[in-house]
Amino acid sequence: MHCTKCKSKAALKLPRHNAAFCKSCFNEFVQDQVVKAVKSQRMFGHEHRILVAVSGGKDSLALWDILLKLGYKADALYVNLGIAGYSDRSHDNVRRFADTVAAAHGATLHTHTVQQTEGAGIRELAMAVHRPACSTCGTIKRYQFNQAAVEHDYDVMATGHNLDDEAARLLGNVLHWQEEYLDKQSPSLPASVEGFAKKVKPLYRLTERELAAYCVLNKIDYIVDECPMAQGARTLLYKDVLNRLETESPGTKQMFYWKFLDKQSKASAPLSDMATKDQAMLHPCAACGQPTTGEICSYCKLMARAKRDVPHSQTAET
Ligand code: SF4
Ligand SMILES: [Zn+2]
Ligand SMILES: [Zn+2]
Repeated sequence: MHCTKCKSKAALKLPRHNAAFCKSCFNEFVQDQVVKAVKSQRMFGHEHRILVAVSGGKDSLALWDILLKLGYKADALYVNLGIAGYSDRSHDNVRRFADTVAAAHGATLHTHTVQQTEGAGIRELAMAVHRPACSTCGTIKRYQFNQAAVEHDYDVMATGHNLDDEAARLLGNVLHWQEEYLDKQSPSLPASVEGFAKKVKPLYRLTERELAAYCVLNKIDYIVDECPMAQGARTLLYKDVLNRLETESPGTKQMFYWKFLDKQSKASAPLSDMATKDQAMLHPCAACGQPTTGEICSYCKLMARAKRDVPHSQTAET
């Protein structure tokens, strides 16, 4: 098998592009896809400060690596969820990358530890407030990322969501006709109000498999295991279904998601209009000051419940 571009020995095949690449042409392909995503969705420029949400997994570490190699000013935030075994290993991977590759580019790693600030790990907090672990985790991560972005003055927050993630999310939203989620399923969401950071997904043109290959070829150590809380999540089922379609008909995933983005950009109101609409509904949370539609934001409500229901010795005074 030979590289489609330079004809040397290929390292991997990409059926959806009907191509095969050697390591160096594959790295070029990956960078091109990110540059296309950043430019076509007007995500950020070289003058902006970016905060990458890193988890220790392949996608977020690949994203940090690609942005640094493309010359962007990209720091990162890692949220340690306090999940026994898993969090220690993922934290090690993030630290190793931060101390080597990121440090060589002068980039900084910020760390937030849930056990220290929220008083218990995600699993314990979720049990205390009788909510699914992933929704508790989502509320805390969204809050902490937004707070870090605003506090350290970052222009934009970047996450490692890839084509598989976005196509699976789209399938879930379509199956349930969740129109308000469909409206907001864009890889670039403007800051809806002062106090909220702009959010972007520069990897939406790359698949999970391509990002795993990128990490392996570039010797980026990442945690291979899924978060143990993800077991049984609906998204995994949607991904599986889409993978089966992709095997039968390469290119299905990208056609499904990219065509949706095409139609969305032509049909719906510009996202800046939605931002104005959101802005009208948001005001500072009475407890913490972060923007919210209610009187108290969902993070503050969650923490109030956790304090009430977790034995006092386990929760932090915030
Ligand atoms: S799987 Fe759930 S608990 Fe684990 S990191 Fe993702 S959202 Fe958080
Ligand atoms: Zn080549
Ligand atoms: Zn609040």
